[in-house]
Amino acid sequence: MFSQTILDFGRKPNVIRDLSAYAGRRKAEIGAEHVFDFSIGSPNVPPPPQVHEAMLDLLTHADPVEIHSYTAAPGLLSLRKTIAQSINRRFGDHVDESGIYVTAGASGAIAMALKGLTNPGDEVIIFTPHYMEYLIYTEAYGAKPVIVKTLPDSFQIDLPAFEAALTEKTKVVILNSPNNPSGVIYTKESVKALTDAMKAAEKRFGHAIYLLSDEPYRELSYDGVEVPYLMNDYDDTLVCYSYSKTLSIPGERMGYLAICRRCADYADVVDVCAGAARALGHICASNLYQRVIERCVDVVADVNFYKENRDILVKGLEDLGYTCIHPDGAFYLFLKSPLPDSMEFCEKAKAYELMVVPGHDFGVPEYLRVSYCVARETIVNALPAFAKLAKDCGL
Ligand code: PLP
Repeated sequence: MFSQTILDFGRKPNVIRDLSAYAGRRKAEIGAEHVFDFSIGSPNVPPPPQVHEAMLDLLTHADPVEIHSYTAAPGLLSLRKTIAQSINRRFGDHVDESGIYVTAGASGAIAMALKGLTNPGDEVIIFTPHYMEYLIYTEAYGAKPVIVKTLPDSFQIDLPAFEAALTEKTKVVILNSPNNPSGVIYTKESVKALTDAMKAAEKRFGHAIYLLSDEPYRELSYDGVEVPYLMNDYDDTLVCYSYSKTLSIPGERMGYLAICRRCADYADVVDVCAGAARALGHICASNLYQRVIERCVDVVADVNFYKENRDILVKGLEDLGYTCIHPDGAFYLFLKSPLPDSMEFCEKAKAYELMVVPGHDFGVPEYLRVSYCVARETIVNALPAFAKLAKDCGL
């Protein structure tokens, strides 16, 4: 009949979206100011002014047929060149336009890369905590997710655990830094150790192991903490980038796949990813928004707003006795659940109109995620509710 795997994906609840919908209903019932929705990771700062300026200028002055027509599937050549130049200027000489494919967000890039790079039975290493959709994209194409735990107190890479997970079937390793949901940025040292282990495994097994670097939060790092660019350490790297968070335009679905020019079987990797995109129904990213991105390639939304949110939230919750992983980036706080099961804690939190996400789907059920891409007053006004909840849980 139907593929059970795909049917299950369709029926599997999306905890975050369900919680966010629940928050919407509660807001309608009791008033938005009484509901503290920390469920979803959708930016609440407006796009930088350059985004709307570019749109208005294009809509006013550009050829209306040209800006709405199909583009080449990988994107406008001028945009791909601009992106490649930006990467090379900022991080080192790694890419040219032939390895840039403009996608519908980072999701589009991850899905096409996994479909392109893996054969059924290949293994894909995923570190906890992880973005939930990695499992879907991996399993959809018959590859096998291999979940590797990170270190319990820092969520940095556990090198022996990683080395033990590498097998001759390993085809792809996914790394997401700054991390959703922990906010952790993998250090230079842990990235170096990881890529050294991958180079040794490539030699041992005699084939390439590709590193998929999922980077929607690259620009959201605080206090000057560096986010290592993985192509500097490892040639077999593909970067999945997104403008959703950087430019506060998640609904516009813009991102790209960047393939390191020095990667093994470069020409085939470029073509197999293009083939995968085609098989997934990709025709091209939004023409208008490709032109907007071309003008805003190095522009970033107000990162300082998130940093201040983080500082207020971390201090407020730690003062109440909660413990968390200190987030250096992204806009999520990973909080240790005061109850052994974070699902139970998150259910209890709803009684105080707090919507926070249990860690189960991120692979860490003892923690929960608090998204702090919210209005400042939501954080400030939520702290008394967190205090009551803490008391209720015996903190
Ligand atoms: N990867 C991670 C880790 C994310 O958190 C998200 C979105 O929240 C995505 C990928 C998908 O982002 P996009 O909107 O670029 O598809």
